[in-house]
Amino acid sequence: MSEFRLPDEKQARIRSSSFRTEIVRDPVVLSEEQKILGNGLNYFVSTYGCQANVRDGEVICGILEQMGFKAVEDMALADLIILNTCAIRENAENKVVGELGFLQAYKRRNPRLIIGVCGCMAQEPQMARRIVEKHPVVDLMFGTHNIHRLPALLQNIIVNDQRSIEVLSQQGSIFEGMPTIRSSRHKAFVNIMDGCDKFCTYCIVPYTRGQQRSRLKEDVLKECRQLIDAGYKEITLIGQNVNAYGKDLKMGYDFAGLLNEVADLGIARLRFTTSHPWDFTDEMINAIASRENIMPFIHLPLQSGNDEILKRMGRRYTREQYLDLYDRIVSRVSDVAVSTDIIVGFPNETRQQFEDTLSVVDYCKYDNAYSFIFSPRESTPAARMEDNVSLQEKKERLAELNGRLGEYSKMRNKQCEGKVYDVLVDGVSKTDSSVMSGYTRQQKLVNFRSEKARVGDIINVRITEGMKNSLNGIDVSEKRAENE
Ligand code: SF4
Repeated sequence: MSEFRLPDEKQARIRSSSFRTEIVRDPVVLSEEQKILGNGLNYFVSTYGCQANVRDGEVICGILEQMGFKAVEDMALADLIILNTCAIRENAENKVVGELGFLQAYKRRNPRLIIGVCGCMAQEPQMARRIVEKHPVVDLMFGTHNIHRLPALLQNIIVNDQRSIEVLSQQGSIFEGMPTIRSSRHKAFVNIMDGCDKFCTYCIVPYTRGQQRSRLKEDVLKECRQLIDAGYKEITLIGQNVNAYGKDLKMGYDFAGLLNEVADLGIARLRFTTSHPWDFTDEMINAIASRENIMPFIHLPLQSGNDEILKRMGRRYTREQYLDLYDRIVSRVSDVAVSTDIIVGFPNETRQQFEDTLSVVDYCKYDNAYSFIFSPRESTPAARMEDNVSLQEKKERLAELNGRLGEYSKMRNKQCEGKVYDVLVDGVSKTDSSVMSGYTRQQKLVNFRSEKARVGDIINVRITEGMKNSLNGIDVSEKRAENE
């Protein structure tokens, strides 16, 4: 184990106000040997979790293609399989551990198969050690801070026939100019920052992704311009907490400013995620309300509707402040859709505290929501909290909450019936190949029939039916054009 570098919990906790983010430009410079290391070999990258992980997955694919590896759709045909993991909840981890068990059979069939694990699970000290010790099938492990080291780590495995285990726990740098293979040709994620300093008591992200650090505005704008020049129709600015963008740079710019400057570039659709209610400013609301190409959709995690629970979660806002923010958003941004995240069964959550969450849901009647049972994450304060709520009780609360959330999302979608919405066409519907699908400006999924629509088009769809999680409709673009 001695030559392996595993994550360190103490290191991962370090935060300092004097910390200055190092910007590393073009960190992936391949040697002649690394450029051909993947020739004739296939790769398969499986990404779990959030948009930041999807973006990292695109970079990993970019590096592998520069090394000569070729992508395959079927994992069974791969010579290199990388699991790009998520550690936000236990079930995400169980999926990966299950996958590693399953991959043993592949390894028996192809002993030269390389199996790698990266992402947030690799950054968790206990989990990383468990994987290395209990899953000898894993040849490669790296983290969220050293993706650029992939060529050297693979070289060590292929040339020296050794395991490469290198996960760094650090505050983190910003890497500019990383190779990338985008997973879509018409919509793209653009990282504006990484890491988080909020330390919500249940969350593992500050330990797995490091100190909150923003990219320079010029680098973000340059990437957005390149995407627009390449014909992209939609850009989503991503970060663990985009509202705090620029604070760490102390260069006098903030997220509202960035939103306006990216909107000025002329992208058809601009989105952003994830927001923290604590940092949501009026300037941001004004930008969203006043710019036609900033989409009227906001993901506003609530987590709990009870002040005592919010305090123990370390969320830094009260129920009243959250509702006041919600009111300001819906009163100023026309046709806005709001979604949220909610945790039920936080340690010692009482029935009354849960009902406080239900009453916020009744007030906001969210268009969409993600709801979860509290999942204790090792090294987080909440994992050490006393908890007298049974799993059965938590499951019943989740079912009750989901019932309520489903009613409201269906009600909101029913209100769309008969209206015409702009839809960015994503492709063939996942549920019916004779139908196409895409999203409205409000990030509502629409399945619709169309003769002419192509991927990447923005078309007019009249909604014929609103369901709990999606809409059905018909393409009326031509009729619309005739009438105009
Ligand atoms: S804001 Fe809280 S929940 Fe969100 S990533 Fe940061 S610590 Fe986690």
